[in-house]
Parts: sequence; structure tokens; C-alpha cells
Amino acid sequence: MGLWEGFVFLAKKLGYLFFSAGSAFSLTSLACAFCIAAGFFVLRRRRKNRSVRIRTIARALFPKRITASASHATDIGYFFFNTFVFGLILGWAMLSYEVVSNVAISQLVGIFGAAQPASLPEFAPRIATTLALFLAYELAYWLDHYLSHRVPILWEFHKIHHEATVLTPLTMFRIHPVDGLVHANITALILGATNGGVKYLFGDTGYQYAIGDANLIFVLFVHAYVHLQHTQLWIPFRGILGRVFLSPAHHQVHHSSDPVHFNKNLGSCLAVWDWLFGTLYIPGKEAEKLRYGLDRPQDSRHDVHSIARGLVEPFLRVFAHLSRGRLSLPFGYPVTWRRWLPSRTARAPAP
Ligand SMILES: [Zn+2]
Ligand SMILES: [Zn+2]
Repeated sequence: MGLWEGFVFLAKKLGYLFFSAGSAFSLTSLACAFCIAAGFFVLRRRRKNRSVRIRTIARALFPKRITASASHATDIGYFFFNTFVFGLILGWAMLSYEVVSNVAISQLVGIFGAAQPASLPEFAPRIATTLALFLAYELAYWLDHYLSHRVPILWEFHKIHHEATVLTPLTMFRIHPVDGLVHANITALILGATNGGVKYLFGDTGYQYAIGDANLIFVLFVHAYVHLQHTQLWIPFRGILGRVFLSPAHHQVHHSSDPVHFNKNLGSCLAVWDWLFGTLYIPGKEAEKLRYGLDRPQDSRHDVHSIARGLVEPFLRVFAHLSRGRLSLPFGYPVTWRRWLPSRTARAPAP
């Protein structure tokens, strides 16, 4: 790739990321997050009869202890790495959504025969498809996140996200490439199968309402509160709302270093899958005192904010897991392969 092509490639990547309405990091969604955060902060100050100045809002939303922290600097590094470097390998390493979708359709036709799509007004199957694909995405997100926390080798890669000691919208980029690849493949599998199902049922009208190539409901959530999940602003949803929607406070609890909060609130926009599978923790009305990051033994050699270490070390830890010859599966079933390996003391068979 020449210098000019490289420049065009970077410009296109940034252009899509910030200016495409369907992007999960579009400027419009960031602006919405900023307005909601500022509005929430002003309301809270007014309720306590405290003055509101522009400088107070700026200081509350961009506190120096966060913007100047090593954790935030690392998030920025991961932002560049995952946008420009990891984006290149994601394309070829992903299980194809279209292939899974076509396999699902042919399997359904093979089992049930060709479906006769009912003659419905076009909006009905499109609304059903938009909803089905959104719920499927949320299920895939929950399942991938659950496995990332429960399967030791996957946790080694997902840990990088949990090493952030402050939360900002850029923390969403603090993802190890292997973590991203597993997520992309699980999502392609579940979304592809669901898409095959709706295409089988509705035929040509089974396609979603979208902005760009992103599901409309997902884009609405990105503009509503998804960015606020990676902030220090305590906005909790409680009661039935807290069982359906994953508020910013829900995800902040997910990042807590308190063992009471471990493996809770694994969803993305919705809390329904957490509610259904017993991993839901509804945050309190008043801000809970949380510490973010992983509690590790104090060791000056272990810099949790080093990107090079974050990218390489998980492979070393996985190698250590594998060389012990034992791996735990999420439901407590251990897999051992040492006994299939030739024993070091085994004698060569007699000639
Ligand atoms: Zn997690
Ligand atoms: Zn997070």
C-alpha cells in the first residue's frame, strides 16, 4: 500500500466511524450522549439548588483525573489500533453472515419445505425482522460476553477491557483483537441464523429498517445511552425498566472490582437476557461506590496500561493454561487432554 493509498484508507475509516449515521461511534451519537449527560447533570444540580455554570459542567463531564489518566491514554491507543490495524484482519477472519443465513434458509426448506409467505403489508414483516435481528444481536452479545467471562482462555483476552481504571466512551475500543474476533463470529452465527429464519418466513420482505447498514433500533440505543455506559455518570434504571434496559449504571457495575458484581450485567442495550439467564444486577438509586479495574497484586513490572503487554500477554497466559493440560468449560465440565498425549515415561514398543 503506497503512502497516498494509506492516507485514503485512514481517511475513509475515520470518515465512516464519525460521519456514518449507522456507526456505533458517530459524531451524532457522541453529541447526543454529551447533551443527555449535561442535561442530567444540570437537573441534578438544580434539584439540590446548586448553581450551574458552563465551567462546572465541563469539569464534571471531563474531570482531569480521568482525561489525564494513564487508563484513558491507553484507551486512545486501542482506539487507533482497533480502528486501523484490527479492522484490516476482521474482514477475512470473520464467519460470513451471508453464508450462515443461506445455510439456515436451505436447512429450513429441507426440513419444512418451501414456505408460502403470507400477503402482509410490507411494514409488518419489516418491523418483525428489525425486532428479531435486534433481539438476536443482543442475545449474541450476551452469549459472547458470558463465555468471555466464564471460559478461562477467553477471559484472558476479555480481561483487557476490564483493566480500564476509568471509563470514557473510548473504553469501548479497549478490546483485544481475539476478543473482537470471537465476538464477531458468534454475532455472525446467531444473526445469520436469525436472518435465514426471517427470510424463510417472509421472503423478499424480510429485511430490516436500517440506517446505513446498522439496525435502526440499535442505532437509536447508541444515540440514547450506550456511550454513557462507559462514563462515571450514575444513571440507573430500576424496577421493570432496570429489567428491560441496560442503563449506564448497569454497565458501570459490570466494570466494578467488587466480587459481588463479577459476571453481572453482560448485555449491551437490553437487560432482558441477563434477567432471563440470572446474571442481572439492578443498580441502586444512589451512586454505588465502585472501583473499576481488576485487583491484581501490586507488581511494578505489571503495567496494566501497557498496550504491548495487553496484546501479547494473553497469549502467554493461554499457553500456560493449555500446557497445564486442563481447561474448564463454562458449566463446570473440565476437559483434560494430557492423557491423550504420549507419556514421557512410556517405553518404545519392543521390536
Ligand atoms: Zn465483561
Ligand atoms: Zn465495558
